[in-house]
Amino acid sequence: MSAAAAGARAALLAALLLLAGGVADADEELRIGGAALRVQLDRDAFGAGAPAILQWVQRSADIVARYYGRFPAATATLRLVAQSGDGVHGGKTFANPDAYIRVQLGREVTAEQLSADWVLVHEMTHLALPDTGEEHAWLSEGLATYVEGIARVQAGNRSEADVWAEEMRSMPRGLPEAGDRGLDHTHSWGRTYWGGAMFCLLADVDIRKRTQLRFGLQQALRAILRESGGLATDWPIERVLRTGDAAVGTHTLEELYAGMKEQPVTPDLTALWRELGVMADGSSVRLLEDAPLAPVRRAIMRAP
Ligand SMILES: [Zn+2]
Repeated sequence: MSAAAAGARAALLAALLLLAGGVADADEELRIGGAALRVQLDRDAFGAGAPAILQWVQRSADIVARYYGRFPAATATLRLVAQSGDGVHGGKTFANPDAYIRVQLGREVTAEQLSADWVLVHEMTHLALPDTGEEHAWLSEGLATYVEGIARVQAGNRSEADVWAEEMRSMPRGLPEAGDRGLDHTHSWGRTYWGGAMFCLLADVDIRKRTQLRFGLQQALRAILRESGGLATDWPIERVLRTGDAAVGTHTLEELYAGMKEQPVTPDLTALWRELGVMADGSSVRLLEDAPLAPVRRAIMRAP
């Protein structure tokens, strides 16, 4: 079937379904700056009400747009799938060729759960990085994990202490275990999400040290989005890292990658937290202002 014929058939099917009353879903269109986000949801599916759901989507999109300087796709579709229970259950992001995010959401999701949600910010963050292939999933998952907390702090949706406490608690899961063959060849959950996030934190700290706080990972990521167009583009990882480095005038990303891609590297996280002035305090942390890298820590959380 030709593309035109297939399109006509799909349109006819959609019209027939609507006539049959088999589709309760309606699309909503949200604007984020110059970008358009189409939200597909069953307006009656959620106990919290459709306005509260759409407010969560708008807030999450604004958080990501604020971090990157713009929403990372000109147009995108978000499909919300209602499931039993409460909470935000998980999501997946695609770009083939149009940006498409699918998130599963409990019918009884509460306003508090929507306000504290990280899933949608994480998924939207995936739109900002070119596709570098499955071998480098650690970079896309690590970035989404790392950026989510900072972007939400910058938008006033999470506290700095909360983000540092989570990093301190979870980042050890990203350290190599016995038999590790580096980030490109070790595809465990811990290495992919928190090993990738650890790469991002080390890069962020290094860029800020080398540029006397003028730049950080955030400016590098903005440049990568600007020059690539994001997830719809296939780029080799080397080009992604080179583009980020060029934007901030360092070789941080390329050098870190060369060191970590094929061999296990175990940074001294305890020393890093101490230098950054992040001190464990029960289930939270205390942030120390006289630590040697306290200015770096503060700069990481501050919008450019
Ligand atoms: Zn992800």
